[in-house]
Amino acid sequence: MFVREALRTGLQMLKESAVPSPELAAELLLMHALGCDRGRLHSHPEQALSQEAAELYLKLLAERTTGKPTQYITGRQQFWGLDFEVTPDVLIPRPETEHLVEAVLELARGGAKTGDLFRVADVGAGSGCIALALASELPNTEIYATDISPAALRVAAQNAARLGLTDRVKFKEDDLLTAFLAEGQLATLDFVVSNPPYVGPAETDWVQREVREFEPRLAWEGPGDGNEIYRRLFPQAHSALKPGGCVVVEIGYLKGESVKSLLGAGWTQVKVLPDLAGIPRVVIAQKA
Ligand code: GLN
Repeated sequence: MFVREALRTGLQMLKESAVPSPELAAELLLMHALGCDRGRLHSHPEQALSQEAAELYLKLLAERTTGKPTQYITGRQQFWGLDFEVTPDVLIPRPETEHLVEAVLELARGGAKTGDLFRVADVGAGSGCIALALASELPNTEIYATDISPAALRVAAQNAARLGLTDRVKFKEDDLLTAFLAEGQLATLDFVVSNPPYVGPAETDWVQREVREFEPRLAWEGPGDGNEIYRRLFPQAHSALKPGGCVVVEIGYLKGESVKSLLGAGWTQVKVLPDLAGIPRVVIAQKA
């Protein structure tokens, strides 16, 4: 089998199983089987696959047809231009979440004096993508990243090590910021950021098979009406933030107004920012 033919076969198999973005998936799986990058794949369409590579590729394709996300098969996902390890213990980082990173960077760079040290909490760190992207951009930052899942924290810690950011990002098992506040850390943070689980019970049926059957429910399914985590997080964030500090959270489809309404008193400069598709995606509020 040659590269060109392998891609065609893959595309067909994945299409037949109604896999979304079948072309991209076939490419990523073939790159993984060959251990090469996209450039090499397309510059050598006539290259023959070894027996071993061909068998591996077919095995990966078969796995993908079960609905298992490509990223859990290859174990990799790019976020903010960085390479993250992902396992079924963590949510796969989404491009939409880069808007949250962008919003925090804008706020940090806008208000910063040179040499300012930022203290940030990332709540529900998962793979660590938000915390590590921020740490890679803001050299004077100390990040405290929490998750309730010890398995997710192990993946996040490995990502920190691989990206060389362990000195500035500390991962800790915590239910939101409960333990952090219990240690008496009041009014010590500049930012509290979070991409919490927010898919409500009414929306669960719309969720893709890839998410519903393979990504950790704990990471995407919002408890209660779907907004419960915001309801618990906002008061905690208010206690943890310095006056003038900001909470920055990702929100689900059409949730701008309902999430804003959960903030309560003590906040100012409340904003809802859209993503590239124009869908409200990030809510920002500043502690008064
Ligand atoms: N912070 C991680 C992300 O944005 C994990 C989020 C989550 O598990 N809800 O991908």
